[in-house]
Amino acid sequence: MDAAVNVNVAGAGPAGLAAALAAADAGAGVVVYERRPGVGGRFHGDFQGLENWSTGQDVLDELAALGIEPDFDLASVRELLLFDPDGRERLCRSARPLFYLLRRGPGGGTLDDALLRQVRRRDVALRFRATVDLPACGGIDATGPRGADIIALGYVFETDMADGAYAAVSDALACRGYAYLLVNGGRGTLASCLFGGFEDRAAYLQRCEDFFRRRAGLRMHCPRRYGGVGVACPVQSARRGRVLLAGEAAGFQDALFGFGIRYALLSGAFAGRCFATGRLEAYDDHWRRRFGGMLSSAFFNRRLYEWGGHWAYRYLVWRVSRARDPRRWLRRFYGPSRPKAWAAGWLQREKESP
Ligand SMILES: Cc1cc2nc3c(=O)[nH]c(=O)nc-3n(C[C@H](O)[C@H](O)[C@H](O)COP(=O)(O)OP(=O)(O)OC[C@H]3O[C@@H](n4cnc5c(N)ncnc54)[C@H](O)[C@@H]3O)c2cc1C
Repeated sequence: MDAAVNVNVAGAGPAGLAAALAAADAGAGVVVYERRPGVGGRFHGDFQGLENWSTGQDVLDELAALGIEPDFDLASVRELLLFDPDGRERLCRSARPLFYLLRRGPGGGTLDDALLRQVRRRDVALRFRATVDLPACGGIDATGPRGADIIALGYVFETDMADGAYAAVSDALACRGYAYLLVNGGRGTLASCLFGGFEDRAAYLQRCEDFFRRRAGLRMHCPRRYGGVGVACPVQSARRGRVLLAGEAAGFQDALFGFGIRYALLSGAFAGRCFATGRLEAYDDHWRRRFGGMLSSAFFNRRLYEWGGHWAYRYLVWRVSRARDPRRWLRRFYGPSRPKAWAAGWLQREKESP
């Protein structure tokens, strides 16, 4: 291993910290630059889901194989109560976790804090309130979304409700998206995840709050408003000369429902390893092989979902809840497919053309 290799990483989100871990484990010297004063500054202690349906292998095992330990607060979610646009309830139940609930933001127990602690155990230099000129010196760009195809806003709160996970699909609650309520251990997160209608976001959130009060017995104590954005249009190549793009900086995001954490961690780890071993040209192959087809399918599924409107939402809720193994059904729905890849490429070119 060439110990003289130095890897500059811009951004200390999941992608940047996973890149730092992988590069350090491959023997490189690593410097992480984060423009905020600490990690997780984009988030507010809100619950997010680490999806566990897109592979047969459990996501935690996949991450462990990449050197990422799940030493953050984590809860398995095997049951999700879904509401279709007519307000009909459908229970989606899985023998294995559908997703893992984790918290994002600064502070103990969050994903961001755990990754930071893991990075600190390696010999990685961290520079907060700092940026780096990557085009000049080369490195990994993990600076997160540049734009807003998706807006999520909601409340984090304390509650005496029992643990539970709820999601509702309806254009009345979240334009072309979905609303969710996640409760665990006396904390909760309520959000409307919008793929359009951004100017009416306050009204969507109010309707979500009313809906979950009626349908799930929502009780919020000390609610704090929060929000954030995401992009969902992957690049064709995630290499710009001596710069590798990872995570949402590359548009690596689940365009259907916005589950981007897993892609951020995987792409960060791949980029870190490729950079540290001087194999920058291998990076595109690596991510395309692992999840390129899934990104295309999600991009296509999103268009299908939008075209179908409430009909498509109803079908999805019904189909996933009646599947004997919902993870398996979702895996097929999200899985690589030649026709979907072809259609997604065409739709993406349409979207990008002036
Ligand atoms: C409200 C909300 C809810 C979400 N819920 C889920 C969910 O349930 N499940 C899921 O899988 N995904 C979810 N996502 C998406 C997920 O959080 C992101 O896909 C993921 O955080 C992307 O990681 P990243 O490392 O690419 O970018 P980020 O997490 O955005 O990290 C980028 C970092 O780079 C820093 N930075 C930016 N510019 C510079 C610069 N020039 N120099 C140095 N540093 C810089 C930023 O400060 C930030 O710390 C959600 C997103 C939002 C906003």
